[in-house]
Amino acid sequence: MLKHFADDAACATSAKTLEEAAEKMRTLFQRVGGPAIWARTHFSVYEFCKFVAMWMSRARLESTDPNSRKKRTKQPPTKIRIDDEHEVTTASSHKFLGVILDDELRFQKHAAYALGKGERWISQIKRLAKVTKGMHGAHARRLYYSVAIPSMLYAADVWCSQPKNSPNSRKKGGMKAAIRKMESVQRKAALLATGALRTTPSDLLFTHANMLPLRSHIKLICHGSALRIATLPKEHPLYATARRAMGRRLRRHTSPLYDILDSAGIRTNTIETVNTITKPPTWRNQVRTTIAKTREEAEQSAKDDESDIRIFTDGSSHDGGVGAAAVLTQGIRPAKIARYYLGRDAKHTVYESECVGQILALKMLQKLGQDLNGMDVMIATDNQAVLRSYSARKATPGSYLIEDTRALITATEERWPRVRLKLQWVPGHEGIEGNEKADTEAKRAAEGGHRNRKHEHHRLLKGLPASKSATKQHLKKKIRKAYEKEFRTSPRYERASRFDPKTPVSNFMKIATKLTRRQASVLAQLCSSHAPLQAYLHRFKLAESPVCPSCGTEPETTTHFLLYCISYVAQRRRLRRTLGRDQSLGLEILGDEKRIRPLMTYINDTKRFADSHGDLQHHHPLAG
Ligand SMILES: [Zn+2]
Repeated sequence: MLKHFADDAACATSAKTLEEAAEKMRTLFQRVGGPAIWARTHFSVYEFCKFVAMWMSRARLESTDPNSRKKRTKQPPTKIRIDDEHEVTTASSHKFLGVILDDELRFQKHAAYALGKGERWISQIKRLAKVTKGMHGAHARRLYYSVAIPSMLYAADVWCSQPKNSPNSRKKGGMKAAIRKMESVQRKAALLATGALRTTPSDLLFTHANMLPLRSHIKLICHGSALRIATLPKEHPLYATARRAMGRRLRRHTSPLYDILDSAGIRTNTIETVNTITKPPTWRNQVRTTIAKTREEAEQSAKDDESDIRIFTDGSSHDGGVGAAAVLTQGIRPAKIARYYLGRDAKHTVYESECVGQILALKMLQKLGQDLNGMDVMIATDNQAVLRSYSARKATPGSYLIEDTRALITATEERWPRVRLKLQWVPGHEGIEGNEKADTEAKRAAEGGHRNRKHEHHRLLKGLPASKSATKQHLKKKIRKAYEKEFRTSPRYERASRFDPKTPVSNFMKIATKLTRRQASVLAQLCSSHAPLQAYLHRFKLAESPVCPSCGTEPETTTHFLLYCISYVAQRRRLRRTLGRDQSLGLEILGDEKRIRPLMTYINDTKRFADSHGDLQHHHPLAG
């Protein structure tokens, strides 16, 4: 096997023994059309000192040491002769295209390298995001996701792919330890984003920072690349390999490619193909589309339209189903209707249904049985994206439907050369009669009850393959749901839900953007009950007694400090006055966006956090 990537190239052979493999490699290097000949005919000289050979096997040699018979040793470095002049010594690991390959393909070395990258980035972010002064937590979070994560999880789909959890799976975890270590990097990022104390439990921290746990994030990355690979067209070099992986059901010896496709649950022929080739610059869009500049203009032109045949199309997602409809009107004749049910919304998008609407319209037009020469035909849709897609050069999910429509338009125009066909945008929900009818019909189609089987378009008869974007959304939702379910079983759930019943969906980061860095930090600490109050200090053996130092009656917890401590009666009265009489004061105030400012005034007035956080006055968040 031979693979070239710009200026990186790799050759691979497989054989039972090292000698055989070396021999094969020699022939591969020198064969006709092989790398040696290529170099000669392309005036390129290889830098032989940069050649690296690797012997990839998990088989180990029997130990020769009589004292440790059981221990097996790795293969020692060997020299491989590739031609008369050059020899290459085998190495145990090598970085290729940014991934460190090791001779057992366990990627442990790469995991350590990735962790190092993550740590380096997080320490850089830390320099910018001090809790008392420094940039806002939201920015620290964004830096983590835009810089640290892409660098640390680069090619995670290759080295960190997780086999699907199945009871029969012998491959246990694999990268579990590495992921745990990398999660400590995310923890640091979450601490910077929220300004919480270091003792805060990770799961609570991640909900406040609005971060998915790292293993879920890695799953997202793997699903993304699985979808990218599964939707490749036939011409792509990876196509055959991917198809083979998709068609199998393996239990052992799974490859990363198999793992990512399997965990995303993608099977052969159930997903659409997205073309990777962009149309050439000389290509011109032949379809006439009209999109008015304003809604009013579009509405007026739709009402003034005097076309002989008017077809309104619409797509709809309704009750978990996706459907399309087209309504054809011609003078005083009764309207003709076509409907099509695409499938569930986990597999199809509204965009697709809008495209199908156009196909239905053109099919209806063809089957009308009239001579269309000299006629004006308007096909109207309330979706601008569909009309814009006709002139797009780059293929996107759902593009194949646009190409189908384009072919139908060409066919119509070839059959009736003097037909005047135009595709027009009409604003939705403006009371344009045909459009409203199409909308209702599309909703009916989405229910899936009355599937119209009379249309003859081959693609629609067969049923549409699942959409790439809908599948991606669905997988994402699934990961999110699994995480939320897991969090509900966490011992922290009960406590967290007292401030915010929607936990683990937290609006903390949203509230924090309205606060200064210090205020956000105090809020994070109070929400997690890890704040420098006496009860906390006592729990972590930093104080002798948990009792409130101001009133001395009971342990100083978040609840005591906010709601009951008699030392702050005056401040609390002011808080109640600002909030208004009918508002009850409870812990949920910590998660309430509207009441957060008066609460901050209260906290500042008590001066309880003056030592740890300093001034908690309001000023512009960006001023620090
Ligand atoms: Zn007290």
